[in-house]
Amino acid sequence: MEQTDILVVGAGPGGLACATALARQGKKVILLERKSTLGPKVCAGGITWHGLIKLVPRQLIEGAFPAQIIRSGRQSIRLEEKNPIVATVSRAELGQWMAGQAREAGVRILPHTKFKGAGEGRALLESKRGEQTIGYRYLVGADGSNSRVRRTLGLPVERIGLGLNAMVPRVYPEMEWHLCPRLFGSGYGWIFPHAHQTSVGAYADARLFSGGELKRRLLRWCTENRIVLPENEIRAGLVNYDFRGVRFGSTFLVGDAAGLASGLTGEGIYPALVSGQAVAKLILDPEYPGQELRQLARNHCKHSTMVGFATRYLGIGSVLMEILLLMLRFRLLDFHALEMSDI
Ligand SMILES: Cc1cc2nc3c(=O)[nH]c(=O)nc-3n(C[C@H](O)[C@H](O)[C@H](O)COP(=O)(O)OP(=O)(O)OC[C@H]3O[C@@H](n4cnc5c(N)ncnc54)[C@H](O)[C@@H]3O)c2cc1C
Repeated sequence: MEQTDILVVGAGPGGLACATALARQGKKVILLERKSTLGPKVCAGGITWHGLIKLVPRQLIEGAFPAQIIRSGRQSIRLEEKNPIVATVSRAELGQWMAGQAREAGVRILPHTKFKGAGEGRALLESKRGEQTIGYRYLVGADGSNSRVRRTLGLPVERIGLGLNAMVPRVYPEMEWHLCPRLFGSGYGWIFPHAHQTSVGAYADARLFSGGELKRRLLRWCTENRIVLPENEIRAGLVNYDFRGVRFGSTFLVGDAAGLASGLTGEGIYPALVSGQAVAKLILDPEYPGQELRQLARNHCKHSTMVGFATRYLGIGSVLMEILLLMLRFRLLDFHALEMSDI
C-alpha cells in the first residue's frame, strides 16, 4: 500500500492551494481529482480586488471592472473606484495555472481518480485501473459542496445556496448585479463579462427554490432584461455555507467542503484559497494561530446572518434591498463590506 504524508481530495482552488503550500515545505502530497481535466467548474469566475485580483497573474484576468452596476426594482446605482472592484477569470485557466504551480512544488496529482471513503489512516480510491488503497497521516477534504470527505465525518449540510450559470456568446460592457427579491428572494441575478463571452446567472438560497424553479425564474429575468440565454447551456452548482470548523482530528476540510463560501453572494474562490493555505499551515504546525481563518469565519458569519434575516423576512425583502442600495449609493455601506476578504 502506498503511503503519503497528506492526501488532498479535490483539485479546485482550495485543494490546489493547500497541496502546493504543503509540498513547498517538503511534504509528500498526493492530490486526487475525480475529473480528467483540472479547472473547469460551474462558476461566474468573479474575483475581488482585496481578495484575489492582486494575487493572480495579469494574463489570467479576462475582464476588470472599476465600476459595478447594481440594480433593484426602483434604483440603479453605479459604484466606481480607481482599481477594479471585481475582475473575471476563466476557472479552467485558473485551475491549470494553479495545477502548474502544484506540480512544480512536487505535488503528485492523480486526475480521474475518485475518493470513495476513508478510515484508520487509509483511503479507498477508484480510477480507470480499478480500486486502490492509500495510507496517509493527514486527509484534506477539498472536494466541494457535495464533499464525500465531509460525509465520512458525519457532518450535515443544512445551509446551502444554489447557483445557475450560462455563458452568453457576447461581451456585455458592464458588470451588473440585479437584486430582485420578487424572483430570487435574498439572492440576485448577475452579468459578469469575460474576454469573449459573458457569464449570466442567478444565485439563491436553496431552501427557497428547487433547481427547476430557479431556472424558470432566471429565464423570466433574462426575458425582462432582453438577455438571450442559451437554455440548454444553463448549469447548476451548489454553494455550501454550513461552516462547522476545519479540523477534525487528522482530517481537515477547506473551501466549499468546509462550508466557507459566502451564503450571501456565493463568493467561494477566495475562501477556498485562504482556507487551503491556512490548513496547510495548521498541518505543518498544529499550534498555528490561524488568524486568517478566524477573520474568514467572522465575515462568513456576518454574511450567513444577513441571509438568515433576509430569508426569514422575505415579505419585506424588496424594502430591505432598496435600503441596501440607498446605503451603498450614499456610501453608508462600502461595497467591499459584502466581500469575503478584508479591506
Ligand atoms: C453558479 C455559480 C457561480 C459562482 N460564481 C462565483 C464567483 O463568481 N466568484 C467566486 O468566488 N465564487 C463563485 N462560486 C463559488 C465557487 O465556485 C466555489 O466556492 C469554489 O469553486 C470552491 O472551491 P473549492 O476548491 O472549495 O471546491 P471546488 O472548486 O468545487 O473543487 C472541488 C473539486 O473536488 C473534486 N471532487 C469532488 N468530489 C471528489 C471525489 N469524491 N474524489 C475526487 N475529487 C472530487 C471536484 O471535481 C472539484 O474539482 C460560484 C458557484 C456557483 C455554483
